[in-house]
Amino acid sequence: MQKYGLDIWADDNFIIEGDKVKVNYASKPSLLEIVDNLRSQDIRGPMLLRFPHLIHKQLDLMHHHFHRAFEELSYRGSFQAVFPLKVNQSPLFVKPLLEYGKRYHYGLEAGSKAELLIAMSHINSNSPILVNGFKDRELIKLAFLSAKMGQDITLTIEGLNELDSIIEVAKTNQGAPLPKIGLRIRLHSSGVGLWAKSGGINSKFGLTSTEILEAVNLMKKHGLIEQFSMIHFHIGSQITQIAPIKKALREAGNIYSDLIKLGALNLSTINLGGGLAVEYSQNSSIHQINYSLKEYANDIVFMLQSIAKAKSVQEPNITIESGRFIAASHAVLVAPVVELFSQDYTKRSLKLKEKNPPLVDELYELYQDINRENAREFLHDSFDHLNSLLTLFDLGYIDLVDRSNSEILVHLIMKKSIKLLKDQNLEELLKLKQHIQEKYLVNFSIFQSMADFWGLKQRFPIMPISKLSHKPTHSANIWDITCDSDGEIDFSEDNPLYLHDVDLESEEYFLAFFLIGAYQEVLGMKHNLFTKPTEATIEIDEKGYQISNITPSDSILEILDDLDYDVKEIEEKLIQYIENSDYIHKDEVEDHIDILKHLMSENGYLKTID
Ligand SMILES: *Cc1c(COP(=O)(O)O)cnc(C)c1O
Repeated sequence: MQKYGLDIWADDNFIIEGDKVKVNYASKPSLLEIVDNLRSQDIRGPMLLRFPHLIHKQLDLMHHHFHRAFEELSYRGSFQAVFPLKVNQSPLFVKPLLEYGKRYHYGLEAGSKAELLIAMSHINSNSPILVNGFKDRELIKLAFLSAKMGQDITLTIEGLNELDSIIEVAKTNQGAPLPKIGLRIRLHSSGVGLWAKSGGINSKFGLTSTEILEAVNLMKKHGLIEQFSMIHFHIGSQITQIAPIKKALREAGNIYSDLIKLGALNLSTINLGGGLAVEYSQNSSIHQINYSLKEYANDIVFMLQSIAKAKSVQEPNITIESGRFIAASHAVLVAPVVELFSQDYTKRSLKLKEKNPPLVDELYELYQDINRENAREFLHDSFDHLNSLLTLFDLGYIDLVDRSNSEILVHLIMKKSIKLLKDQNLEELLKLKQHIQEKYLVNFSIFQSMADFWGLKQRFPIMPISKLSHKPTHSANIWDITCDSDGEIDFSEDNPLYLHDVDLESEEYFLAFFLIGAYQEVLGMKHNLFTKPTEATIEIDEKGYQISNITPSDSILEILDDLDYDVKEIEEKLIQYIENSDYIHKDEVEDHIDILKHLMSENGYLKTID
């Protein structure tokens, strides 16, 4: 892996200079100096860094490419992008997004009542709100209220019963501005990849062609056909191939044209949902995406233009609900490595005795004498010996020190043979390599910060933020600090991660996890009660950078309170136990209470340095 695959996934957002990874923007601060700065403010544990300039970049790119394609093809529709709130609802993301998005009349998409309230209270003027997802009458009333406030809101119907409710609510709102209506169509084409369940004939969402015809009739009958302005589809997230997107678009374009001919006079917009993919791969052999944003925009515009021409209807306005593409790159998690395991398998930890069991002596000789010619044979011999030695241990003939020596020696022999035979690419050695990875214990929770790795085995780019001019020598396994064996990112031959040999007694070593700004935050789980990491916003200019919005990770008391424990009671009880303890002297009671209170006021992650 060259430079941790930066040239594949980083899109020039990060670069390696000297031995550090830097944010490739304006004054180009290194991640390490930002992290050192935060730690000098007494911040410990994992840190989620938000970079607003990367939000701006994605918004600019998306609008640039669609407007460019419009110009090149003299397209006569308009372009409108909205952010689907489910991808990231954090105010520390949404507010800067909307602030910058003003220039594009960037809109919001909501899929629940809570999201709709965020949208109604934060939307910029002249920017649309779209409502998808299943809707009850209350949510529909909320949308009618939004329309009365003068907001540009569209209710996208997922099923005919929702249309019935809209018809009912509309009756009580005669004369007032009404929400626009969209229809989510169920396409027979569907997406590919991990997230491909949202589209296709068996999808959870959308109207079949028969239902679409019925919906149009109902809207005509109840005087709502003028509100019908949009058809919508979403074939899934992270669509890595262009073909299914084009296929879906062809289908949607034809439905659009036919609906206009059937009397949907105000139908003017095709909303093609999300799905624009993000390159997460760190390895060129598993490059995921087969199209560029430029190709994506060109293909969409060209196809809709051709269909409109062939069917003699107006070129539709294009609405897009890309979330992952907009949000993923802006957030980076940096977490300290707190320990390296399997370091004990070094020559230093051998405790050979004056007199060792003969097999241990033999292992030592194998280790001494191993060379290119005999490596495979010696390796196999060492495994045999280890098996015998473990049996001897079970039977009580050798002790724990002998056993430890045997394990160390066999590991050393494995490492040596991998080195000696590295050009031979033997299946056996590849397997061995996985055995002797170093385990890097990292102060974060995979469940909290990378839920999609746990749920879907989605990989995110990982790299150290320092020592980058040194060659990383250890094949690495990442362990988080939860007590769950799923809290592990294993070393894989397809996607190898090599990290540095570090002496954590004398230096700090941080890993950065990239592209976690989409979905991960709100999907994050409090497994083992590790809550959101400390967050900060990093604004970079030519002179330097500014840190703002520092939001500390929850304190232990807050975590318990959130679980509905009575924290007052917990505190009082513990203080009482201290006061009543026979082992704590009266003079020391105050000190112990202070220690306890301090501990409960801190966050739940490990403290690597006091
Ligand atoms: C989730 C979702 C999106 C966002 O999809 P991305 O792949 O993140 O761009 C857009 N529209 C709808 C209807 C969704 O459900």
